[in-house]
Amino acid sequence: MLPDYADHSVFDAEMIKDHLDVSIQNLDQLDLDFNYVDKPQEACGVFGVIAAEGDVAKLVYFGLYALQHRGQESAGITVYDAQGITHTHKAMGLVAQVFNETILSEMKGALAIGHNRYSTTGSSKVCNAQPIVVSTRLGDFSLAHNGNLVNATELRGELSAQGHALESTTDSEGIAFAVGEAVEEGKDWQEAIITALHRCEGAFSLVMAIPNAIVGARDPHGVRPLVIGKTPDGAYVLSSETCGLDIISAEYIREVAPGELVILSIENGIQSVSWQTPKPKLCVFEMIYFARPDSVMHDESLYTYRLRIGRELAKESFVDADIVIGVPDSGIPAAIGFSRESGIPYGEALIKNRYVGRTFIQPTQAMRESGIRMKLNTLKDVLQGKRVIVIDDSIVRGTTSRKIVRALREAGAIEVHMRISSPPVTHPCFYGIDTDSQDHLIAAQKSVEAIAEQIEVDTLAYLTHDAMLRATNMDTTHFCTACFTGTYPIEVPDKLKRTKLMLENTAP
Ligand code: SF4
Repeated sequence: MLPDYADHSVFDAEMIKDHLDVSIQNLDQLDLDFNYVDKPQEACGVFGVIAAEGDVAKLVYFGLYALQHRGQESAGITVYDAQGITHTHKAMGLVAQVFNETILSEMKGALAIGHNRYSTTGSSKVCNAQPIVVSTRLGDFSLAHNGNLVNATELRGELSAQGHALESTTDSEGIAFAVGEAVEEGKDWQEAIITALHRCEGAFSLVMAIPNAIVGARDPHGVRPLVIGKTPDGAYVLSSETCGLDIISAEYIREVAPGELVILSIENGIQSVSWQTPKPKLCVFEMIYFARPDSVMHDESLYTYRLRIGRELAKESFVDADIVIGVPDSGIPAAIGFSRESGIPYGEALIKNRYVGRTFIQPTQAMRESGIRMKLNTLKDVLQGKRVIVIDDSIVRGTTSRKIVRALREAGAIEVHMRISSPPVTHPCFYGIDTDSQDHLIAAQKSVEAIAEQIEVDTLAYLTHDAMLRATNMDTTHFCTACFTGTYPIEVPDKLKRTKLMLENTAP
């Protein structure tokens, strides 16, 4: 039986609390260190609902719950009441920790937006949680952002120079203040938002709200996803991924196009404005790993795409073995695809403890070292005496891979062949994914053979760049693949590049 993919982002707050001897209540005071997490981290999930009547905070809660995998650091909801007054609740922690029945029942109103955060700019503090609300002469403007601006420093500097008192350290606050400023200059909502968007460079999928509408926008490259849906009773929905629509039984209408602004209201339905010429460059890592496998992009589930890249991997780097296994969760569809193409039986031998979602809150290095065993356990009777092909979606530092390989051997595997369903990650991301700096990326430093030696596998192979793109069945120029190639589709200022790229790769 296949694992329950839909369940892969579900965390049980009480069990986490029981399991880890750290007070989650004090999360906002902890200086959280995420760097040891050996995977690129998704940056944020955004969600919004507008209904004709009733209270929608609970719908937003469930939407954020479905998008929990996109950010586990803080969560927040802003609701507009019948008078257009905003009420915001946001805090550090998972959606299920931040909200309860009482809080949600006090959030009255038929218009609300929400946000799950994983910080890529700004530190891990509650002041950086979203939505961000700015008061204007036309009423409150609120914003939830997924992505990263590459000109955040410049934008924040300009706004500070103009006298705005920025409270957080995020790039997102700059966008909200830029909208507020344009409104105060006399522009209407649509003009003000478009004016602000033209000041932004980088990756941004935004869910915004004004007193009578929710507003979605994507940068011209559409690096991060954003979709529109409608519930059976006529409420409009914006969500980072379609899994956020499914959980509230909303029908998928379409994606917000790169360079498009949509204004969703009960009176006028969906109004669309093309605010910038589209130059599509969807993050290919959304397809490989970040987005949920049950989310749909380009008319098919990502599960189906991941099966296909597994097949491509088998064609490119077949090796004889007794069993193919996947590293849960995102390596599993590719493992099934590899198995189907190669004829080598698929099996499950790594079992994930679904209730340990936050090993990063362990306070000591020693506890961190043991983190992988808290998350994954091996099935000895499946692995004993077997030649094993293990499929994972990526290798960042290589530390987790080595632990997995050692665990497989300890459980009795006699050969371990690792296959990776993406090309080597050689460059950091500046568009809203938290990757290590380049000097920590193992593939930026070592050959495939040297990596194989370091992670102690018998053989190692990665999917080629061509196969990764071919398997999308899309125009292959419509993807950002910069972390595999170093070719950044949106220019990254040298100053920002120097924060993550090795110095010899950047101009002085
Ligand atoms: S650099 Fe990599 S992770 Fe970042 S947007 Fe491009 S493909 Fe995605």
